[in-house]
Amino acid sequence: MRIKSGIGYDIHRLEEDRKLYLGGIEIPFSQGLAGHSDGDCLIHAIIDALLGALGREDIGECFPDTDPAFKDIRSLVLLEKIVFKLQGLEVQISNIDAVVIAEQPKLGGFISQMKDTLCPILGISQNDLGIKAKTNEGMGEIGKGKAIAAWAVALLQLP
Ligand code: MG
Repeated sequence: MRIKSGIGYDIHRLEEDRKLYLGGIEIPFSQGLAGHSDGDCLIHAIIDALLGALGREDIGECFPDTDPAFKDIRSLVLLEKIVFKLQGLEVQISNIDAVVIAEQPKLGGFISQMKDTLCPILGISQNDLGIKAKTNEGMGEIGKGKAIAAWAVALLQLP
């Protein structure tokens, strides 16, 4: 058995007249994340960590933002497609750990709902998915509430 790790990062701008999707759930807020998909930067970071562990291209190579098929697509659907690929390679996810950096809204109360949504898709237990919510202490563009970013690391077991 081989063990491989991957890292993923993503950032999306906040803008008016968009729903906010993070970690696969809709979160009540006055703004949402801009993007060709639903803008869910946490799922995008997780996908990049999974792909990175396999030495693959990033999410943009798999799901180009020039492809109308992915316009406004829920990132949960993209994650399902990636996990399906992993299953085809007999890859098992050992664990994923992630950090979301958002000045607003406060995300702490939504993490268990994110885990309830993501764990069944990832095929891992709640103990194998970490999601932490941090602010940027008011600094930079994230700190001014103009964007939300996420980091994720993944550990995979390969046959
Ligand atoms: Mg993205």
